Amino acid sequence: MSGAGQQRRVAVVGAGPSGLFAAQALVGQSEVPVQVDLIDRLPTPYGLLRYGVAPDHTSIKSVATALARTFDNAGVRFVGNVEFGRDVTREDLLAAYDAVVYAAGASEDAQLGVPGEDLPGSRSAREFVAWYSGHPDAPDQDLSGVRSAAVIGVGNVAVDVARILAKTAESLEVTDMPPGVLAELHRHEADDIHVIARRGPQHAAFTTVELRELVHTPGLQVTVNADAFDGIPEGLERRPKANVEILREAAATVVENPRRRLHFSFWRKPVAVEGDGSVEALVLERTRLDESGKVVGTGETSRLETQLVLRSIGYRSVALPGVVFDERAAVIPNVEGRVVDAAGTVQPREYVVGWIKRGPTGVIGTNKSDASQTVKHLVADLVAEAEAAEASGGSGAEARRDLVAELAARGHEIVSLEGWRAIDAAEIARGAALGRDRTKLASWPELLGASHAATS
Ligand code: NAP
Repeated sequence: MSGAGQQRRVAVVGAGPSGLFAAQALVGQSEVPVQVDLIDRLPTPYGLLRYGVAPDHTSIKSVATALARTFDNAGVRFVGNVEFGRDVTREDLLAAYDAVVYAAGASEDAQLGVPGEDLPGSRSAREFVAWYSGHPDAPDQDLSGVRSAAVIGVGNVAVDVARILAKTAESLEVTDMPPGVLAELHRHEADDIHVIARRGPQHAAFTTVELRELVHTPGLQVTVNADAFDGIPEGLERRPKANVEILREAAATVVENPRRRLHFSFWRKPVAVEGDGSVEALVLERTRLDESGKVVGTGETSRLETQLVLRSIGYRSVALPGVVFDERAAVIPNVEGRVVDAAGTVQPREYVVGWIKRGPTGVIGTNKSDASQTVKHLVADLVAEAEAAEASGGSGAEARRDLVAELAARGHEIVSLEGWRAIDAAEIARGAALGRDRTKLASWPELLGASHAATS
């Protein structure tokens, strides 16, 4: 029998979209039989699909249905509630598996680096998104006393949080948001929502469909600062052109008796967050592009009264304990998914996919082609290793530790696929009782309790 015929074991660290696409590609190829363990620190799979895609974007959530089919393959196991660096180390994984794929995403956010950024009331959009998505680690958000909210950045995450703030809590009742989140959104009185962009409307990162949806939120009056459209060149590409048109049209449309107002401020950057004990204002500086195209301040400042600042200026991956990391680029250095060290030397049997491979860009589907690139190399390496071992008379497949059994023997509560399915069923039942498709369980005790009830 050929060495490539021996079953190999691959650990994928992170069961979000990129990890699931990698698992699909691994069990979908026919060159080497592979068994995959999808390890996640959470008791639930799907990562940002569950805790990042806005709850009112139900059509994107249906991607979960397609990704869920990954678990129909008997070669894929879900190993939830196991944290890399705490419960298992890089060395453990390399001793137990033939290859390790890091799919840890981007769990931190970029910082503005301005004074007052850490005042209570100033936080990342990532944290706000995690809260309304029912992430068990997300701190509760208190919107009391917030009359004006400011969102920094004009990517799709900024559009998501602005839209959730702009919508009525009644219209969000149909989503899977936890009851505590909906109760807080019912209380919120932030009738002025500011979206701040350091460049012009033609440079915004949001996509046209998302922008259109936001400005068409019922009962929302949109304003755009007067100088936003100055100097917009002719001959823009399709997306920036459509974005500029939508913004012009929205600003020119008067909404009778608006419920809330959405103010876009282009060519402004935050230079300070001010407040006595909590956020009271945001100091903005007018900007322009210098000769090299870099954003620079003009020295002209203004003060915006606000009680909530949500910076939405991009996510950031963090180093995994013991794994090489490029702090500047905030990615695991790699060549087409093969992990390399600072000198460019390939780290055998270590691979990377998703945002921690290429940075926090692209939509969920981008991870599919990204994962296939990595898996193509991983499989080629397994085949080469098996052929080399065969040539030297070995099998190529070493007897390795069974880490999952070891963890279980130590009394660690692993959430298996059966456990996740029990959580899923509990959320669906909870939603049904409220007339919704699903209501999320948003705390560790609830999640582990539902899993435990099914598996004990
Ligand atoms: P993003 O698309 O990279 O947008 C980041 C925004 O922050 C940009 O407007 C950027 O402006 C601004 N920014 C960066 N640094 C700044 C600073 N120091 N001061 C002020 N502004 C600053 O990031 P994202 O919104 O977090 O989205 C991440 C990825 O997820 C994107 O690929 C996005 O499309 C995707 N996503 C998609 C959806 C969807 O499809 N519905 C929803 C959510 C997220 P500059 O351009 O001037 O740098």
